[in-house]
Amino acid sequence: MARSDGDLILVAGGAGFIGSHLVLRLLSEGRQVLCLDNLQTARPSNLRLLEGHPGFRFVEADIVAPLPRAVIDEGHRITRVYNLACAASPPQYQADPEHTMLTNVVGTHHLLRLAEKARARFLLTSTSEVYGDPEVHPQVEEYRGWTNCTGPRACYDEGKRAAEALTFDYARMDRAEVRVARIFNTYGPNMHPDDGRVVSNLICQALSDRPITIYGDGSQTRSFCYVADMVDGLIRLMESDIDPLQPINLGNPLELTVSDLAARVVAMTGTRNPVVYEPLPQDDPRRRRPDITRARNLLGWEPRVSLEDGLAKTCGWFAEELGVGREMLAAE
Ligand code: UDP
Repeated sequence: MARSDGDLILVAGGAGFIGSHLVLRLLSEGRQVLCLDNLQTARPSNLRLLEGHPGFRFVEADIVAPLPRAVIDEGHRITRVYNLACAASPPQYQADPEHTMLTNVVGTHHLLRLAEKARARFLLTSTSEVYGDPEVHPQVEEYRGWTNCTGPRACYDEGKRAAEALTFDYARMDRAEVRVARIFNTYGPNMHPDDGRVVSNLICQALSDRPITIYGDGSQTRSFCYVADMVDGLIRLMESDIDPLQPINLGNPLELTVSDLAARVVAMTGTRNPVVYEPLPQDDPRRRRPDITRARNLLGWEPRVSLEDGLAKTCGWFAEELGVGREMLAAE
């Protein structure tokens, strides 16, 4: 475990949605954290939550570029490297697909080389997107996926598949000790209101006067994990002594349709905004649900926060963020 005073944990993407929660949790455990972020998709206020913490340092940098001196010079203290650096929302990662691909491949390579030199343990946050539009349901880690390397999601899903390949090769060659998490849909406070993902979209629409957007007929499914559970899973995975040559699904197995999710947000917020149906994005997976047997057995991990509680917390947080009175929320 990375416990001595000098130890430093590098979190790439630490100002982002999941990254900021991970950094806060590590700081609260007394760890020293070096956060690397290009601020491409991070909310500036995420950084303000972290700054001022005695164990926190921030370096603005893009992992696609060679890592800055300020990071290399700390190599002797770095014992853990978490790679959470990549835009994860479809509209955002598709806005600059070349950068998304390079972030996953070149950026991961830079961090792996740092981990190798520092003899630090490296954790890659991969994604359920590696399963593409899955034919196997729920998704087990052995399933090799059905992705489309010619489609608009490829920069992200094929990029993450390449990042996994590189990471596992580093492990096979004994160049770094690695862990790979496949993260399923995650939600909670610190998401960007303009993130474009379904939970933030629906809640922000419900709390303002915009229509509720459902893409397609709303029958596609997803399984949503509250961010505190996800962070707990990531830390457990990083600190576990499992065989590194296996990815681990982290997500909440409770599966629901997008229509069902929208209905819950409507009920929770009491909105009367109309629901509008918009075209389904190309290659949008029809269903997604993690099989978390491996995480349960190897990490003793499973999500604890119910969808109802998680959505209520997230609605409350967005209400404050958007300056909407919390009394508007029917659930409170
Ligand atoms: N979606 C939707 N309305 C929105 C945003 C997304 O119906 O305003 C749908 C999207 O088409 C997908 C699901 O919600 O089927 C989850 O989308 P998200 O972008 O959150 O993540 P994904 O799992 O597709 O990466």
